[in-house]
Amino acid sequence: MEQTLVIIKPDGLQRNLIGEIISRFERKGLKIAGMKMMSIDDLKVEEHYKKYVEKPFFRHLRTFMQSSPVIVMVLEGVEAVSAVRLIAGSTKGREADAGTIRGDLAMSLQTNLVHISDPEENPQEEIDRFFSQDELFDYKKIDRDFVYSPDELD
Ligand code: ADP
Repeated sequence: MEQTLVIIKPDGLQRNLIGEIISRFERKGLKIAGMKMMSIDDLKVEEHYKKYVEKPFFRHLRTFMQSSPVIVMVLEGVEAVSAVRLIAGSTKGREADAGTIRGDLAMSLQTNLVHISDPEENPQEEIDRFFSQDELFDYKKIDRDFVYSPDELD
């Protein structure tokens, strides 16, 4: 099964959308393998957004990501990386498809509620940045045989 990292950004906490966002992933059938609240220090912000460190907007992005704690979680499922990206929607909230988290709940390009692992950027590396092995749980979910057909679980 694939695992992917999701961060509920500070706007999700401030706008009381933590439950709404988690609920969308739960209802889809994704399994939560790990979840916690944490602050993101300078080093983690720079590692996490390394492709943008030189961009003019990075200063605002860092301030925003450190403006409150965030919720980090690891979601698991068959082809979970792409499934979770579809649920999140495209980066700019006001252009994201209706039905997605960003399309339904966000207006901004920067304050867009969630970070979602990009398949191009090694989701496992992102998970390791935020979670230690003992914070991830391998347990049987009783709805599994109804969320998937047997051949998808082979
Ligand atoms: P995504 O989060 O959809 O994978 P990116 O990896 O391109 O998008 O960008 C990471 C995050 O950086 C975005 O979610 C957004 O918060 C911020 N960001 C990206 N581009 C800009 C920009 N031009 N101006 C301000 N913030 C940006």
